Amino acid sequence: MKVRAAVLYEENKPLEIKEVELLPPGEHEVLVKLSASGVCHSDLSSATGKSPTKLPAILGHEGAGVVEQVGPGVTNVKPGDHVVLSWNPDCGECDECNRGLPHLCSNAWNGMFAGGLLDGTSRFRLDGEEIFHYSMVSSFAEKVVVPDRSCVVINQDVPLEIASLVGCAVTTGVGAVWNTAQVRPGDRIAVFGCGGVGLSAVLGAIAVGASQIIVVDTRADKLETALHMGATDAVQSTGTPEETAAEILRLSNGGVDYAFDAVGAPNVTLSAYLSTRKRGAAVVIGIPAQDAVVPIPALSIPRMERRILGSLYGSASPRRDFPLILDLFMRGRLPLDKLISHRLRLDDAQHAMDLVKDGAAVRAVLQF
Ligand SMILES: [Zn+2]
Ligand SMILES: [Zn+2]
Repeated sequence: MKVRAAVLYEENKPLEIKEVELLPPGEHEVLVKLSASGVCHSDLSSATGKSPTKLPAILGHEGAGVVEQVGPGVTNVKPGDHVVLSWNPDCGECDECNRGLPHLCSNAWNGMFAGGLLDGTSRFRLDGEEIFHYSMVSSFAEKVVVPDRSCVVINQDVPLEIASLVGCAVTTGVGAVWNTAQVRPGDRIAVFGCGGVGLSAVLGAIAVGASQIIVVDTRADKLETALHMGATDAVQSTGTPEETAAEILRLSNGGVDYAFDAVGAPNVTLSAYLSTRKRGAAVVIGIPAQDAVVPIPALSIPRMERRILGSLYGSASPRRDFPLILDLFMRGRLPLDKLISHRLRLDDAQHAMDLVKDGAAVRAVLQF
């Protein structure tokens, strides 16, 4: 079948809207008609070459929609189901899955860096050539074929544009607070980077009763947005990592329990680490460059029992956490709608990417 999609042919070139051929779902694959796709910083990292990506590809990894057709062997979804797509189709059988860490599944990424689905091959064609998938999802397209284990069924009354964000930013930010750090009522936290992931961490921290939520960004308008969402203090970072940390230590009376780095740059990770109190932890969510190294003052590791925690996909179990997060949204306890700053059509996919690049968007959502 023919579907419209935004295709990236070359790094740093605009996305092109094309009619591409979509092959039917194979064994354990599902055809999903997308309703919405968020635009994430990782899409931008691939478009600019910061994250090497096999091209030409259809980007997008934050999608939600309705199941249209299932391939042989699919038992977890049926046509008509509303689903959020996970970019981490955990196998359920490896050592990591068996010890309750499906986000670290050893098999989920097979094929991902080859630009395919789990078997490494693509379901997209254009003029007889393969167009590659992106993160198993490729949500900058009207319809996609994905692994069945990427599909998480949700209630039909949940707005699909909200649901789409749960596929990446929301789960990454909220999950870092709930699962990785396990923030408790009364904890003091700091969040570096007020994009979609950072603000999701802010909302997650409010929901669990953090007493102080200090947001850090270089842009005053983003800090303003975060304060409106319920952050308690804001620090505009213009100086050195040490200077920013000193301001957080002052505001928090000696440091925060958890400092979330939603940027993924060595200076930010260092600043987050230096912002923590005794037994505190920097939680690294943002994806650093491949060769990045963080210079940490070693003595404070034993002296203060400071820690660094990595957080991938919010340490989440999608089948458990996607419905849980959306249930809290529906009950008004997690106002995820506040994250959406721009709504655009698929034809405006490049404009949406530019909004992310300029830092103008909290979350831009493509609607199909
Ligand atoms: Zn993402
Ligand atoms: Zn696994």
